[in-house]
Amino acid sequence: MKVSVYPLGAGQDVGRSCVLVSLSGIPSSSSSGSSSSSSSSSSSSSSSVTLMFDCGLHMGHTHATGRRYPDFSKISPSLNISRVVDAVIISHFHLDHIGALPFLTEHTNYSGPVFMTSPTRAIASIMLEDYRRVISSASRNNNNDGNENENDAASGKSDVTIPESSFYDDTTVKRCLRKVTTVALNETIEVPLQRGQKGTLKLTAHYAGHVLGAAMFHASYQAPGMADPVTCVYTGDYNTRSDRHLGPAVLPQGLKPDVLITESTYADTVRDAKRGREREFLNAVHDTLVHHGGKVLIPVFALGRAQELCILLDEFWERLGWRSAATPGPPIFCTAGMAASANQYYDLYARWMNERRQAKAATHGAALGLGQVRVWERGMERRADLGPCVLLATPGMLHGGTSLDVFTAWCGDPRNLVVLPGYCVSGSVGSRLRESPRGVLRRVDVGMRQGAGSSSTAIDVRCAVRHLSFSAHADARGILGLIKQAEPRHVVLVHGEKTKMARLSTEIANVFGTPCYYPANHTLTVLESSCTIPVRMSAAVLREGRWRKSREGDDATMAMDDDDDDDDASAKRARTYAHADDSVLQGALVLEKNANARLVTASEALAGAGIVPHQVSCEVALSEDDGKRLLGVAYDILCRLTGTDADDGGACRGDLYASARSVHVRRVPADGTVRVSWLVDDAPLARTVLDALKG
Ligand SMILES: [Zn+2]
Repeated sequence: MKVSVYPLGAGQDVGRSCVLVSLSGIPSSSSSGSSSSSSSSSSSSSSSVTLMFDCGLHMGHTHATGRRYPDFSKISPSLNISRVVDAVIISHFHLDHIGALPFLTEHTNYSGPVFMTSPTRAIASIMLEDYRRVISSASRNNNNDGNENENDAASGKSDVTIPESSFYDDTTVKRCLRKVTTVALNETIEVPLQRGQKGTLKLTAHYAGHVLGAAMFHASYQAPGMADPVTCVYTGDYNTRSDRHLGPAVLPQGLKPDVLITESTYADTVRDAKRGREREFLNAVHDTLVHHGGKVLIPVFALGRAQELCILLDEFWERLGWRSAATPGPPIFCTAGMAASANQYYDLYARWMNERRQAKAATHGAALGLGQVRVWERGMERRADLGPCVLLATPGMLHGGTSLDVFTAWCGDPRNLVVLPGYCVSGSVGSRLRESPRGVLRRVDVGMRQGAGSSSTAIDVRCAVRHLSFSAHADARGILGLIKQAEPRHVVLVHGEKTKMARLSTEIANVFGTPCYYPANHTLTVLESSCTIPVRMSAAVLREGRWRKSREGDDATMAMDDDDDDDDASAKRARTYAHADDSVLQGALVLEKNANARLVTASEALAGAGIVPHQVSCEVALSEDDGKRLLGVAYDILCRLTGTDADDGGACRGDLYASARSVHVRRVPADGTVRVSWLVDDAPLARTVLDALKG
């Protein structure tokens, strides 16, 4: 059995998650864990399946660089994806996991199934629609400004030549999502195989925490004739700790997949207690609002952390008595799309949240219950009468839109505070802000606006900037915990930074003894798994072996009925035996009509196949006057080399011959020759005899 892993994205990188995995029922000849560059990861073998886990885009790169979308031409130069991929599986609704799906389904010929959970599909429609609006306004700006259109910067990569706005119009997003098949939590579904493969492909979704609807997927492919399926788990993003609205990620204990492909965003971080971080966050917000009279900007992804922080602030406001009409606290704002449709979905999918929120949904009819949070109106950041307030605004990495507009308006005022609660890909304004030293006047280049083509604009940052990780990813301890839970045979790290992955990979190998890899994009990693194949044995093979009762650690064992202890047939017990010595049990492995493997002797195999065996014999004639003497010499040698037990192939002689095994020495008085004949198996023995006779 083998599993091939080929990242089209998220290989030694955070963003653009897209990992191709081939599950094959046939062992390959290449060595275990080998890595090689390859232009293609899949074979059209009739006993392998290829899955695409996630289909995301990279927010840290523009389309023109060719690095925003996965390069699908790597797996099929003509984008004939249907010939390569059997199913696409989306782990959750974040754009770096789903953003390239409209391209895949509408601009390649991919027509196979697309699986995700139902909350993911529901919220994906908001995420993709939101992104479509960003794209279309960016492309309008480009055209009006007369700036270089990024779509002209074709670099020979197939997807770059297609303008992003053309596969992100509203009809493609809708058409794309109509092709989705939803999977319920812990439900196992069978995926129909459409490329003529035999066997069974099954898929199960497990709870991943992280964001509403996020799932880890277990895929299992049972090839014909194999005792066990070949399996893998793809985690997507996950959080092993519960938070204020979601529960922790769980996999069934001892799932033992052949490969666990896990995210490693926080591969080198062990986060402090969450309570402490929450207190630090709330204190910083309180200080800014009450003591400095400033404003707080929290850039967030539309869904996920936004809801978590809303709940946190909402509960804090309640504790401070800021909920009453007499003493209203500073307002909390959310950007429009985020507040409205998102919360509605959270209510709809309340059973995907933790128990506390489920109870709240049952009693109050609203899982989040954030009626106090107000909707932010565009341009409010410039209003002079706007007092202390909190704004949660998208996008989370300050790469455009409302959060960047508000940031540029507020960052010059030292009373204000910016809290970065999540991960920022390198190159984004958010990450540049993080990297600047604390407490120093910073100039930050905010020129990287989403496709707006604006020239570089460095601005002075005088406000306070805090980075408090509320990111809902597992930290190093969480990742190790999941590995312990699942007991995989191999681990592959994706969705992380290379140096951090290297350290975690070493730790995984040391702690669990499990081989761990972290392949770069467009690199094929082939992982071989040994597997147990039950083999039936013919009685003749059985008789040739020497058997003892099996012990732990035996490689190959045999089960047979054992009636040594009791003559009573009903007391027969199945016992397991192992081969008694180190010798290898030899035979021919044949596949029976019912696809079961059977070990038989060579002659049984020949008979079964209706083949008459040929034997190659050789003969040499020596001219010799004294034939009698030569016969004596030959007999002496044969006795010495084979003994004299004729029944056991030893030497014997008559007047006109001497022989042992298939070597036959004959005197032919009629023509005065001595003839030596033998079968090829006995050539060494015949050679010794001939050498002696020739003297
Ligand atoms: Zn995510």
